[in-house]
Amino acid sequence: MISLLALLLCSRASDARQRTDQELPEKYRKSPYALMSLSVGLPNAGWQLRAKKLSASPQLWIQDKSRPYTYGHPSLVLMLHRTAKQIARQSPGSVLLVGDLSREYGGPLSGHKSHQSGRDADVGFFVTDAKGRPQNARRLLTFDAAGRARDGSGLRFDDYRNWLLVQLWLKDHRAQLEHVFVASHLRRRLLDFARARPAFRRYVDAAAQFLRQPTNGLPHDDHFHVRIACPERQQELCADTPRARKSKPRSSTEKVAVDEAGAARRRP
Ligand SMILES: [Zn+2]
Repeated sequence: MISLLALLLCSRASDARQRTDQELPEKYRKSPYALMSLSVGLPNAGWQLRAKKLSASPQLWIQDKSRPYTYGHPSLVLMLHRTAKQIARQSPGSVLLVGDLSREYGGPLSGHKSHQSGRDADVGFFVTDAKGRPQNARRLLTFDAAGRARDGSGLRFDDYRNWLLVQLWLKDHRAQLEHVFVASHLRRRLLDFARARPAFRRYVDAAAQFLRQPTNGLPHDDHFHVRIACPERQQELCADTPRARKSKPRSSTEKVAVDEAGAARRRP
């Protein structure tokens, strides 16, 4: 495992180099891998092959400057489309704002430490106007602990839709969530919001494990950074950072299932 990783990491390309199957260990050049989308190496030192491109839809808007960098593993891309549709169903007119995913073949991406292996996506916060009416932002906005946009626009952090989004990611059974990075003051806000509402309370423990502010890097007070786990059957090819391995929560599906079972048992 270590030598395989060393081989993969040593072959790390500079920026936008095209990748081929010939750079993979022999096992991964054959069926069934030869047709698969592959996430190779670490999120902060990796690359990808046969990635899926995220496209805009009526429920999903891609930030202008991110458009060349919206390639990811299909699990991630499809999860973003699913959750965008679900939010729009629950709160009609909602449009999910998406920033960078990865380059077509992954590798270093300016402005990010990770986003290299097709497992990371930046997602803008849902916002309301000062009267609490939902609005669709077209750019990432920074919010303070009181939920006010720091740009003086009067926009507010939309606790309801931002919580819904986190809850949908947690409950998504097809993609496997690994982490959602968000600033501590907004994490607290979301958990407090959900804890105060019976319909959401049962997901708070699960969400608390997946939401965190990264200790190195930006605080993430202007977007969620969602990362999915290594895809199935690619665990030797794909790798987690040592920190992620150490602090890894149980898989989201398993965690939420356990929490839901617990909640069901507690019901009168
Ligand atoms: Zn990010």
